[in-house]
This record gives sequence, C-alpha cells and structure tokens, in this order.
Amino acid sequence: MSRLYLDWNATTPLRPEARAAMASAMDLVGNPSSVHAEGRAAKAMLERARAQVAAAVGCAPDEVIFTSGATEAAMVLSRLPAGHDVLVDPTAHDCLWAHLRTGGGAAVGHTLAWGLANNETGVIAEPPRGAEGGWLYGDRKADWLLLDIVQAVGKVPFSFAWSGADMAVVSAHKFGGPKGVGALIVRGGLDITSLSLGGGQEMGRRAGTENLIGIAGMGAAAEAAARDLAAGVWDEVAEIRNILESELSASTNKTISVGNGLPRLPNTLCLIAPGWKGETQVMAMDLAGFAVSAGSACSSGKVRPSRVLRSMGFDEAQAAQAIRVSIGPGVTKDDVQRFGRAWTAAYAKALARAA
Ligand code: PLP
Repeated sequence: MSRLYLDWNATTPLRPEARAAMASAMDLVGNPSSVHAEGRAAKAMLERARAQVAAAVGCAPDEVIFTSGATEAAMVLSRLPAGHDVLVDPTAHDCLWAHLRTGGGAAVGHTLAWGLANNETGVIAEPPRGAEGGWLYGDRKADWLLLDIVQAVGKVPFSFAWSGADMAVVSAHKFGGPKGVGALIVRGGLDITSLSLGGGQEMGRRAGTENLIGIAGMGAAAEAAARDLAAGVWDEVAEIRNILESELSASTNKTISVGNGLPRLPNTLCLIAPGWKGETQVMAMDLAGFAVSAGSACSSGKVRPSRVLRSMGFDEAQAAQAIRVSIGPGVTKDDVQRFGRAWTAAYAKALARAA
C-alpha cells in the first residue's frame, strides 16, 4: 500500500503550475532590480507573480510585499510605530502570538493580530467588530487589524479589500506553492517600517534580492488555487472530510470532533480521542502508512498541550489527545475510509492495552 499524505494544513503538495513557473524562473539570469534586459525580464516575472497573488487575495498588486513566508511577514508586528501594543487572539498561530505586547495602559495605539482560519482545528472566526466600526478586543479598541489568512487562502473565499484589514500574512506552501516564500499584504498608505533594511526592494518594505523562483511558484499556485476555489473543488473536499468525520466518530461515541457545528475549513478534522495520546496516534498512523498531525506542524516535536485547544475550553488531557487530519483535492473517499479503518483498529488496540 502506498503512503497517504493527510497533513495538508502543515504543507501541501507542490502544484504542477507552480513547478512549471519555477522551472521557467530558474532559466532567468537577471536580478529584478537591474535595469538591463535580463533584469527587466526578471522584474516582469516578479510583477506577474505579484498580480497573481493580489488577484487571489483581493488586494492591489502594490499592496503585496514578498517575504520568506507568513512568519517573516508577521515580523511587521515588531515594526509598528513606537508605543503601539499588539493584542493577539489566543487561538492565533505562534508567529502572531510571539508578538503579543501590552504596555500596561500607556499604549498610543493597538493592533489586533487575528487568525482567520485556525490551522489546528480549521475553525473560521471573523475578527470582532466594534459597534461603531473598527475592531474591539475585550475592552480595547484596535486601530489596526492584521489578519493571518494562511489557512484560508485558496480554501475559502476571501478578499483583503472587503475584509477591512490593514495587513495580512500569507504563506505559499499552504496552497500548492513552494515552501519558504510568502507575502505581507499592507493596505495602501499604511505607514510601517521596512521588514529589513538595505537595498530598498519591495517598495522599500523588505530589503534583499527577491526569491524569484519561489515567488514565481507562489504566483502560479495562487492563480491555480483561486481558479479551483471558484470551480467548487473544495465543496467536494468538504464532502470527503465529512465522510472521514463520521467514520472516526462512529468508532466510539466518546470522541469529540472539535469545531463541528462552527464555520470550518472544508478540509480539516480535529478529533479528540479519549485515552489515546495525540503523539501516539501520529506514530501509530505513520507506521500504518499515513501522515497526520497531533497539532500544528510548528509545535510537533515539542510535547506540550495545544494552546488553541486549551483556549477553546478543553482540559489539558483532552488537548493532548487530539489528532488533526487535513486533506485536499485528490484525496478520495476510499483513501479516507482506508485511514478510518486503520485508525479505528489502532484506537481499539490502544484502549485494550490501557484497560
Ligand atoms: N499561520 C498559520 C495559520 C499557519 O498554519 C502557519 C504554518 O503552519 C503559519 C502562520 C506560518 O507559516 P510559515 O511557517 O510558512 O511562515
């Protein structure tokens, strides 16, 4: 039996469109900042990718700043004006959480960093709007909103312009692009300090020669992902996920499907299996030929209960018993049923051993 990759929220397979665009980029010698013909050809490729990403996330091309990924893009939270506090949604990814900054009432402004779709549970949560507009977090009003749209892009409709956000972070490898490239989206006119200092690339907002190969792959993947989304490909993915959910939930009535009933990404299933540790599940499934995750990829390897699940009200034991299965287009009903059988059998064995 061949292996089955069911960890799409950690990273996705490279799309053929991205591979082809990257191969073309490899044949270009020019630096996009050079004025000669070779440089202009590289620049044209860079700007094409910028337009593709802008179209996929619903912003203007000059609002797209290419980075090495969402984590680097989130560094903008440490480049805000002096005295600006950063409020962070507790279910947000570590790359936002790491920037939590509260100055104890002396703040001159607030930025709310908010994860639109959660990587561990798939739960989609709109940022809290205040009654008079703006963003309200607890009793604090945020002047600016940074949205983490990493897991949403390509899976659910999203428009930066419509969202009202001031900034957003994106990562290419979550929608079929290569790893190590992403973007910071910044609303036109927003005054933020450059992510890095030097040559003034990326409209003076991220210095350093651009990763043209990765960026070309990101642009092609963004365009293809937007096309697939419009064609309804993810509606089919949701149907397969729902089959998977009923297969796993049928094994015992004690499992908890996290986020069931809430708005959710079409591809994600987060299941708490009482009496069976998440890490043990991942290892058992790996040996059986399936790649799944116990939590976010970034926290795997570190044995600590998920902050996301804890903040949703699950206790420490429950948070440590969660498995995340995340799928994508091309994963079939047969595939998830095969996984369901293997998981159910392994769970029964684990419970018998514990009894
Ligand atoms: N935000 C979310 C919701 C994610 O799932 C991830 C990756 O797991 C990131 C941010 C960070 O992306 P990257 O590691 O590509 O910078």
